[in-house]
Amino acid sequence: MFADFALHERLLKAVAELRFDTPTPVQAAAIPPALEGRDLRVTAQTGSGKTAAFLLPVLHRLLDQEHKGDVRALILLPTRELAQQTLKELERFARFTFLKGGLITGGEDFKVQAAMLRKIPDVLIGTPGRLLEHLNAGNLILRDVQVLVLDEADRMLDMGFADDVLRLANECSQRQQTLLFSATTGGTALREMTGRLLREPQHLML
Ligand code: AMP
Repeated sequence: MFADFALHERLLKAVAELRFDTPTPVQAAAIPPALEGRDLRVTAQTGSGKTAAFLLPVLHRLLDQEHKGDVRALILLPTRELAQQTLKELERFARFTFLKGGLITGGEDFKVQAAMLRKIPDVLIGTPGRLLEHLNAGNLILRDVQVLVLDEADRMLDMGFADDVLRLANECSQRQQTLLFSATTGGTALREMTGRLLREPQHLML
């Protein structure tokens, strides 16, 4: 049951309204250590419920805070479609909260995105290339990011985003938690990225 997780009431209410009755295996394995603040390296397929496995702990962390500064959570994904789906899922979970998500992907108007960034979303979801363009243009400040999520990390590497991801991660200089999800166990490049970005990660294979 979701109520067994130490999640904020407002998130549990949203989960109940969405008729999520039983946590999926990846949610059961990942949500408790993520709520404790641990770094996680999770191998799980799309369709396993992994989006909720990282979104619920991220939203829970931010809900407990008064502070409002710059962007507090950054979620990186390889494609625009995945980023859009993730924002939709976030909005469903955050409906009883004041938390706001923002989307930055290629193929959208740069100036409109810059205006959105000025309003400072709590959680920023996007693809690495366009996020880096905004960083370089001075539109994006990542030093308040507490939690960084890399979703479909193996695909981001396959698509040549390794340097962009590392650059963005380095900008999150104060981050306290990193969650890395991939569909495959990956090769040397994924191990290397895990080694560089995660601290004593728990490795979950679902
Ligand atoms: P994902 O693997 O994160 O892309 O999720 C696949 C689909 O399953 C999404 O449409 C979710 O909304 C849905 N889903 C995730 N977790 C649960 C759950 N515990 N119960 C029912 N549906 C879920």
